[in-house]
Amino acid sequence: MTDQTKPPVPGLSTLSIWGGEQDYELYERSTQVPVVHSVSYGYTDIDTWHKVALEEEPGHIYSRNTNPTVRVFEEKVRALEGADAATSFSSGMAAISNIFGTWLRPGDRVVSIKDSYGGTNRLFTAFLPQMNVNVTLCNTDNHEEIEQEIAKGCTMLYLESPTNPTLKVTDIKRLAAAAKKVGALVVVDNTFATPINQNPLALGADIVLHSASKYLGGHADALGGVACGSKTLIKKLYQYREINGATLAPMDAYSFIRGMKTLSLRVERQNQSAMTIATWLQKHPKVEQVNYPGLESHPSHDIAKAQMKGFGGMLSFSVVGGLDTIKTCLPKLKLAHMAANLGCVETVVGPPLTTSHVECSAEERKAAGIPEGLIRYSTGIEDVEDLLADLEHALS
Ligand SMILES: *Cc1c(COP(=O)(O)O)cnc(C)c1O
Repeated sequence: MTDQTKPPVPGLSTLSIWGGEQDYELYERSTQVPVVHSVSYGYTDIDTWHKVALEEEPGHIYSRNTNPTVRVFEEKVRALEGADAATSFSSGMAAISNIFGTWLRPGDRVVSIKDSYGGTNRLFTAFLPQMNVNVTLCNTDNHEEIEQEIAKGCTMLYLESPTNPTLKVTDIKRLAAAAKKVGALVVVDNTFATPINQNPLALGADIVLHSASKYLGGHADALGGVACGSKTLIKKLYQYREINGATLAPMDAYSFIRGMKTLSLRVERQNQSAMTIATWLQKHPKVEQVNYPGLESHPSHDIAKAQMKGFGGMLSFSVVGGLDTIKTCLPKLKLAHMAANLGCVETVVGPPLTTSHVECSAEERKAAGIPEGLIRYSTGIEDVEDLLADLEHALS
């Protein structure tokens, strides 16, 4: 029997389409969200202007702070992550840097994992130490080690799951619980999973962030970032962002709104195709190892099964013959861009050497457990039979 006292919770496809748009006052009866390119918003009386400026009345003052198109995008992601509030940024890295800038002070300590996104890793190893923030990077799949480091005390626990490019999975619920005991803020980069497959706030995270440039937009034509959490936390983050100026552009917000209407459809297809491709690759004689959380052979398959609703469109695999094989085989793929991005409708491939770990030396990649013969594969929404035929042709 349905509970008549609670309003129905819309499904993820419905939220992808209608999220943020239902209460929107549409321009000239347009059914689509307009792109408001105005830098500023004019008022006819000082009292209203003052009230809006003090956030006592809804409205906009200046587009570095808020913008109607950008607001709809933030609302859409907020609804999908089941959060109370969301704010956006000019890129995923801007979201991450602003989170660090808002909460980290000299003397603070961050606990994170070795396998975070390359740019994030650079902040951890090059820039945060410069501000006297101590960073401890643990082995991503060693939960005991991460818990021990958290227990020593920290300001922030920063996680990413699944990781780039080896698709390691960390138990967000378990580690968030450990972080709560020492009063640390728990931040999770949910870019790879998308809100369709994983909702870190429901697993105990305080802040979830995305590079919208990837799956949210889905068409590799706009750069942006977004973070969701409680009203108090997001207000604090927004106040830092509005002043440092890493604002999402209205046209990019529009591209994300448009792209997100098919987010759920795209991700469902990518989940299915990635699983098919990973299973197929596992049996291929030229393939040494396949990393995909949906495979039962994946070391953290059980954790992935418990915390994810789908296993995502990202996978990686290593080939016999290493980098030499990659150099001859990847250019043969007709249905894949060789490029650094991921999460879009087209399939995208690349080795960590030129994508996630371009900043690292061969030794550092080896130490991080990344074979030079690894291929990162971002599954697109093409027909999976065609993707398999393309892979077969390139590998043979
Ligand atoms: C791409 C990416 C980022 C950075 O996002 P940009 O929009 O390129 O700045 C952060 N985290 C992950 C997991 C990513 O894939």
